[in-house]
Amino acid sequence: MLSRIHYSKPSITDLEVEYATDAARNGWGPHCYDYIHRLEAGFAKYIGATFAIATSSCTGALHMGMSAIGVGPGDEVILADTNWIAAASVIVHLGATPVLVDVLPDSWCIDPEKARTAITPRTKAIIATHLYGNLCDMDALLEIGQRHGVPIIEDAAEALGSAWGDRKAGSRGLFGAYSFHGTKTMTTGEGGMFVTSDPKLNHKVLTLNNHGRVPGETHQFWSQVIGFKYKMSNIQAALGCAQIERIEELVGRKREIFAKYRDAVALIGGVSINPEPAGTINSAWMPTAVLAPETGVSREQLLSAFKKANIDARVFFHPLSTMPMFPDVPGNVVAHDIAKRAINLPSYHDMSDDDIARVVGVLRECLDSASAGSARD
Ligand SMILES: *Cc1c(COP(=O)(O)O)cnc(C)c1O
Repeated sequence: MLSRIHYSKPSITDLEVEYATDAARNGWGPHCYDYIHRLEAGFAKYIGATFAIATSSCTGALHMGMSAIGVGPGDEVILADTNWIAAASVIVHLGATPVLVDVLPDSWCIDPEKARTAITPRTKAIIATHLYGNLCDMDALLEIGQRHGVPIIEDAAEALGSAWGDRKAGSRGLFGAYSFHGTKTMTTGEGGMFVTSDPKLNHKVLTLNNHGRVPGETHQFWSQVIGFKYKMSNIQAALGCAQIERIEELVGRKREIFAKYRDAVALIGGVSINPEPAGTINSAWMPTAVLAPETGVSREQLLSAFKKANIDARVFFHPLSTMPMFPDVPGNVVAHDIAKRAINLPSYHDMSDDDIARVVGVLRECLDSASAGSARD
């Protein structure tokens, strides 16, 4: 049996172990925030945002951010139907309604025109989820947001290191949220980050994340508002400090693997992979193969071929609107269509060239057998 190829795996070196050990040994009492503050400063600098607040998850960062901008009962928040569930859940928990719109066929990210036409007097925000490292059309979204007075939020959990020129994903909306879950480009086990360059919003989220206690409040145990507690521990932050020191290496390796897939797939034909428009960087959290409709290869065929080869490939996100909690939106044709003929390919730091070749080999076999089949027809 061939060894298993996992779809994702963190890169933990002696540096992470050293920092985490130090935090476990010494990061208490007056030092209990040292790694947290260091991580927040390093992360804000890398992203190019003024403020960063470490959280226990990206979901928590989104929850507090949306609460801080006043998302509540009766409101609507527009987001792509092709999405991870986190942002949609948060919207529902806040009593608002997620409005699921279609994605673009090339970036698989929210279609700005569809977002624009979904705006109503109840729209409180538009979420730009940068899917699998691909960038949303932020220029268009920001322009629409400005014209209609609707803030754009960036769910950059999958796009740490993606950029337009020198402007990083997550730094252009009213706020950005990131995830350090074990499958993400940078990890703290579980964890996340809230970033903004708006001092008032930063102050609000700092207050919310401390059970409504205003920063600098001298009155002990005094809460001013109902808040949350989505904090990251100092030990997790120690892991994060090592990872952010290594961020160029981590993103660089993701991009190296992406480039190998891209070159290999170009030779096969019938398969497209994450786009990288001129002037942008795709940090390729999840290299994803989309098979051309004329190949006739389905997601199910891909899944079973990868399973047989002992490779852990994952399905493209189902449209959220197909899940039981949401009303169907059959008009989101692109979101429905792509999910049926796409698959996430494994990509982790220590993946070997042989592993990549094995993955490409399975893709090639699927396509070969499909074209042999159609030749027989
Ligand atoms: C991973 C992910 C999240 C959630 O991150 P957690 O840290 O697990 O809460 C949110 N949005 C997107 C797009 C993600 O991929």
